[in-house]
Amino acid sequence: MSNQNKIRFDNSYARLPDAFHAKLSPEPVAEPSWLAWNGELARGLGLDGWGQDDATLAVLSGNEIAEGSEPLAAAYAGQQFGNWSPQLGDGRAHLLGEVIANDGLRYDVQLKGSGPTPFSRGGDGRAWLGPVLREYLVSEFMAACGVPTTRALAAIATGERVLREAVFPGAVLTRIARSHLRVGTAQFFSIRKDTDNLRLLVDYTIGRLYPDLAEHANKPLALLERVVDRQAGLIAKWMGLGFIHGVMNTDNVALSGETIDYGPCAFMDEFKNDKVFSSIDHGGRYAYGGQPHVGHWNMVQFAQSLLPLIDDDEDRAVELAQGVVNDFPKIYARHHKTIANAKLGLVVDREEGPQLPADMLTAMQTAGSDFTNSFVALEEQRFDQLPAGDWQADLRDVWERQGGPEFTRSNPQIIPRNHRIEEAIAAALEGDMAPFETLRLALADPFEVAPDHQHLTAPPAENEAVLQTFCGT
Ligand code: AMP
Ligand code: MG
Repeated sequence: MSNQNKIRFDNSYARLPDAFHAKLSPEPVAEPSWLAWNGELARGLGLDGWGQDDATLAVLSGNEIAEGSEPLAAAYAGQQFGNWSPQLGDGRAHLLGEVIANDGLRYDVQLKGSGPTPFSRGGDGRAWLGPVLREYLVSEFMAACGVPTTRALAAIATGERVLREAVFPGAVLTRIARSHLRVGTAQFFSIRKDTDNLRLLVDYTIGRLYPDLAEHANKPLALLERVVDRQAGLIAKWMGLGFIHGVMNTDNVALSGETIDYGPCAFMDEFKNDKVFSSIDHGGRYAYGGQPHVGHWNMVQFAQSLLPLIDDDEDRAVELAQGVVNDFPKIYARHHKTIANAKLGLVVDREEGPQLPADMLTAMQTAGSDFTNSFVALEEQRFDQLPAGDWQADLRDVWERQGGPEFTRSNPQIIPRNHRIEEAIAAALEGDMAPFETLRLALADPFEVAPDHQHLTAPPAENEAVLQTFCGT
C-alpha cells in the first residue's frame, strides 16, 4: 500500500478511554468497485496519496487498513422519535482515523456501510447503493450552498447484496466530518452517570471544535451555549433551502453544527409548511415547519445531559442551563431573519424582514408554488410568476427604500430534487452512472445553471413526484 503512507492519520478519538468506542476493523467486501470519487475534496483535505485507484479502493471499501488508521465504532445513545435508546452507537460505520486538512482543521474519515459492530443491534451493518448516492449528492449540494455538513469523499459498490424492502447492491460511503460527536454521545455518558467521561467529552469537544472556550469558567455551559447557537443557525439554513432532515433524533445532532445522517431527507418541491417525506415519520414529528421546535427540544436534551457538570447544586445547574436553552427561539429567530432577508433581497437587519417572508410563504402555500423556483423568480423580479398578495407591494416598497434589491447567492437555482435523485439511483442500479454524474456536476454550483442542466430545475411532473422517502437505508 505504498501510496497510503503519505496519509498521516492522527487519531485523537481512538486515544479516548475504552468507554467511548469499540476498536474493530471494517468487514471486507466481495468485489469493490468505484461509484464516485470526490477528487476536489481529497485535495482540500491534503489526501494527496489518495485517488481513484485500486489502493484507495481497497482502503475505502474496508478491505485493507491504511497505515496509521485505527478503525473504531463510536458509542452513543439517543432519543429516536422521542423514544429513549440508552445504547445506539455506530452500528454500520467505522471511523478510520482523523487527518489534519489544508485548512489546519482536524477531520474524521469514516466509512458508512462497512459492516457490523458491537453496536449493530441485529442490523447487517451495511448500506445499499440508493441511500449512499443520495447522501453523496445531498451533502455535497449542502456544502456548495455553504451549509455546514458532513461531506462525501467516495462511494464504492461492494459487489454484495443487501436485503431491505427488496434485494439491492451494497455500497460504502466515505464520510468526512469535523467530528462525529453527537448530542447522543453526551447522553451515553449521562445516562450511565459516568461524570468523569462526560467531563472528558466536554473537554475533548471544546479542544477539538471550540478551542476559544477552553479558558471559560464554566466550560459545559459555554459549550451548551455554542452548540445552541450552531444548531439554531444550521436549522435556519435548512429552512431557507426547503430542506427536511427527516430524522432529527438526538443521535443525529452533531455537536459541530454540521448536518449529519442524510436518511429519508428531502427538499420540498411545492411549498407546504407541514411537509413530511419520511415513510416512518407517522406523527409528522420532523415536518418542515416543526424543525426549529425540534432543534430546541434536542438542545433541552443536550442541556439535561450536561447538568451534573454545570453546577454541583442541581437547582443552580438547571437554572443556568435553562437560561441558555430558553433563548433558543430568540437565537433561531435572529438566524432565520438573516436568511429570510437575504432570500428576499433585503439588506440584512431591516426591521421589515420578519413579516415579509411569512406573508410570501402563506401566499405560496395557498398557490402551491414551487419553493426553489419562486425565490429564483423573485430574484429575477418575475412578479407575474409569483402568487399575488399584499406581500408583493410591501416588498417592492422596502426594495425602493433601500435603493433596490440585494441578492448575494441566497437563492440556489438548482436543488437535488427527489425525482432526479431517484432517477439517478434507478440508473445506477442498471449500471449507468451518467445521470448521477450529471446531477453531481449541476449541483456543484447551485447558483448557476448551465444550459444543458436547465431541465434539472423543473419541478416533477405529476407522474414523477416522489411522495415518500424510505428509511430502509
Ligand atoms: P440512523 O437512523 O441511520 O441514524 O441510525 C440509527 C442507528 O441505527 C445507528 O446506531 C446506526 O448505526 C444503526 N443502524 C442503522 N442501520 C443499520 C444497519 N443496517 N446495521 C446496523 N446498524 C444500523
Ligand atoms: Mg444516525
